[in-house]
Amino acid sequence: MVFIALLKSGKIMSYEIQFDARRCGGAGECIAVCSRGVWEWRVVEFSFLGRKIRRQIPYPAKQELCVGCKKCEFVCPTGCVRVVEEST
Ligand code: SF4
Ligand code: SF4
Repeated sequence: MVFIALLKSGKIMSYEIQFDARRCGGAGECIAVCSRGVWEWRVVEFSFLGRKIRRQIPYPAKQELCVGCKKCEFVCPTGCVRVVEEST
């Protein structure tokens, strides 16, 4: 998912939050540092080692609000968040 987030230097900047729910520790550090309200608690289902997992964890639900500061990526202790910049 890619959403338009910021107009800078004549280019439309957008950011994609790549998130691996299988590696999330679930402590909510990303929610705490994001000043834009991109992250919210959500019940997520995914497969891990052949098992179906259902957990409440942070999820980057409002990526259109992201300004690409990468605080969530830097604070994440498990490395399951990556903020990718794209311009058009
Ligand atoms: S890069 Fe910044 S604005 Fe975007 S989701 Fe992470 S903390 Fe929020
Ligand atoms: S900072 Fe990383 S490990 Fe912690 S809740 Fe957010 S995505 Fe999960």
